[in-house]
Amino acid sequence: MFKNIILLLLCCFIFTACVKKEVPKDDLTKILERGKLIVGVRDDTAPFGFRDQKGNLTGYDIELAKQLAKGILGSEKKIEFVPVTASDRIIKLSSGEVDMLAATMSITNNRLQILNFSAPYYYAGQAILVNKSSNMTSLRDFQGKRLIVIFGSTSEGTLRTNVPEVEIIGYKTYREAYKALKAGKADGIVADDSILMNYAVKDSSVHVLPKRYSKEPYAVAVRKESDSERLLESIDYVIENLQRTGKLFRMQEKWKLKD
Ligand code: GLU
Repeated sequence: MFKNIILLLLCCFIFTACVKKEVPKDDLTKILERGKLIVGVRDDTAPFGFRDQKGNLTGYDIELAKQLAKGILGSEKKIEFVPVTASDRIIKLSSGEVDMLAATMSITNNRLQILNFSAPYYYAGQAILVNKSSNMTSLRDFQGKRLIVIFGSTSEGTLRTNVPEVEIIGYKTYREAYKALKAGKADGIVADDSILMNYAVKDSSVHVLPKRYSKEPYAVAVRKESDSERLLESIDYVIENLQRTGKLFRMQEKWKLKD
């Protein structure tokens, strides 16, 4: 009898061991095991993500991402950057090519349907960059004219709502958009003031019109599944720390994001 019970228990043990499912690892565990953070960043969006003279990625978003690597993995060197554009960043995140995006990305209701966002780490607002010779002063003046937007950015929606008659020309990068404006292909670029200002600072023949058409809270984006919950908590923890210690503010000053 005793032998039978032992045998039964043994069978139960073997059966349980066989059917025991692998518990799926959440995003944070995968990152910790890999020992490296893979972050999608912009490489043509100064002062957030761009290349210095040596070709290295630098900027406010890049520094923020390094702080995340330091907070999560103990070293800001444990990071790999993957350049993304406004139009391919969500695909690169959803497909698992990157763990997160620190890519001038605004929190919007539409994006919240498919992604999770950290607490905001910067606030921008949409504005228009024009040639100084232009006599346009506000969005309504562009009715029937041509305006440039970056594919996948929030500005297209703003234009469709405010100036339905405007002709919209889209480009993948800010580099191409700026070149097109200078070549006279359009009357202005609609994008975040924080990004457009950089062109106005370097080129005295263009300026940013004073009006702002939206509030753009920049945040780190992660995949929506519940397995990114702990990762999001870690990101928020780092951002909160950077805010509390004044480091985030100093980073904004360094990149001239504060007036
Ligand atoms: N912040 C805006 C957005 O998320 C525009 C900046 C960008 O090109 O990413 O769409």
